Parts: sequence; structure tokens; C-alpha cells
Amino acid sequence: MPLLRLDKIIASTGRWSRKEAHILIRAGRVAVDGATARTADQKADPEAQEITVGGEPLFYRACTWILMNKPAGLLSATEDARQKTVLDLLPPDYQKQGLFPVGRLDKDTVGLLLLTNEGSLAHDLLSPRHHVEKEYFVRVSGQLTEAHIRQFASGLRIGPEGSELCQPAGLVIMSTGETSEARVVLREGKFHQIKRMFAVCGCSVTFLERVRMGPIPLDPALARGEWRLLTPDEVGKLRSAAKA
Ligand code: URA
Repeated sequence: MPLLRLDKIIASTGRWSRKEAHILIRAGRVAVDGATARTADQKADPEAQEITVGGEPLFYRACTWILMNKPAGLLSATEDARQKTVLDLLPPDYQKQGLFPVGRLDKDTVGLLLLTNEGSLAHDLLSPRHHVEKEYFVRVSGQLTEAHIRQFASGLRIGPEGSELCQPAGLVIMSTGETSEARVVLREGKFHQIKRMFAVCGCSVTFLERVRMGPIPLDPALARGEWRLLTPDEVGKLRSAAKA
């Protein structure tokens, strides 16, 4: 693997920022193959050399995976001339890593959003061929019935004159009345798909939250707008889900 700057290698762990990496190196707490590092621009090969911080081995992450609890009001995009995007919630170190959202949530949709700079796995997770489930909690105005469950399961037609056929989707009704609540499981991601599916059923979506993507549930420890790095184990689960 190509040689990388030490500050970059240290920051890849998510435990320290680049600024903190500089401080650690200046304090003589970082070593490469047992030799104390002196400058942040010193180069090393994180796969072939042993890098330690305070004597503890460091585990380099080639790609970054972030789990965010998206709040309403932000665009799922990398940049926008006028509006704030989900990347604005990340510190500057992360904003420079080429991260992008894995699929889009509408501006008013909240909940689980993954961000990464690993294009190939992101692509596989989104491809309808891989059938990775996306689960949503939804509140609608209008009644939901058994007939809707059957419509979702057999593949709804949305779009002008029903021109877009949806893949079979799961609908579990949690409560029904003037306002109804349900869980929906999709294996694809068409533009405004859930809102358009419920519109066909005569209901309008008033609240939409993504609660799971494949094997990764929304972390209840994250408040809206908060995020954390995925653990290596969670990234491994995503990799297996994308291969299935
Ligand atoms: N379906 C929608 O309509 N909106 C979203 O944000 C996600 C799925």
C-alpha cells in the first residue's frame, strides 16, 4: 500500500483528529516500528509497519463508515449552494475525506443514514440486485387496511399512470385510524418512494424515519443530528449483506 502521512493514519481511527495527532506526535507518544516519530508529515505504511500510540497498536481504517441519525431540515447531499447538508454535521477532518450519503433521505425524513467514502460497497448496498432491506417507521393521515398490505406485497404501481412498478414491499400496520402508523420494508430506493406508495393508497405521509439498513439498526444512543463511526464488525456485516 502507498505510504501515508502519520497524522492521516492516526486520524483514520476516528479516535483522534489530525490536530490531536500532531499533538501526540510532538509529545513523542507515536512510534513506527518501535522508533519514536518526530513529525506529522513522516510517512509510513500502516499495513506493513507497526504504529503505536502511547504503546498501544493502532488499527488503520482505509475507508470511513459513519452512522448518522439524520435530523429533518438537512439535504442528503455532499454540497449545496444554498442549503445545509448532512456533511455540515461532521467536523472538518471528516468533511475532507470524500464522504457521501449511501442513498438519499428526503429533507424532511429523519433517522438512519450511512455515510462513507467506500464507493464499491455503497454501490452494492444500494443496488436492487442485492435486495438489502431498508426499514422505515411511517405515520400517515388516513386509514390503513389489509388490502394495502396485499398491494404493497404484490408490487405497487406509482408514477404517472402507474408507469413505475415497485418491487414487493413489506407493510406492517401498527395502528390505524384517522392517523395510522406502520413499518415498511423496501429492497430498492425510488425517488420519494414511500410517500408515493402511500399516496396511491390515499394516505399522505406526515412523518418518516428510517430505522434500519440491512443488518444495521438506528442506534438508540444517537440523538437526532448525532453520529458515530461504524465498528469494524458492523462494516463486516454490511459487506456480507451486500454479497448475499
Ligand atoms: N421514501 C420517501 O418517500 N422518502 C425518503 O426519504 C425515503 C423513502
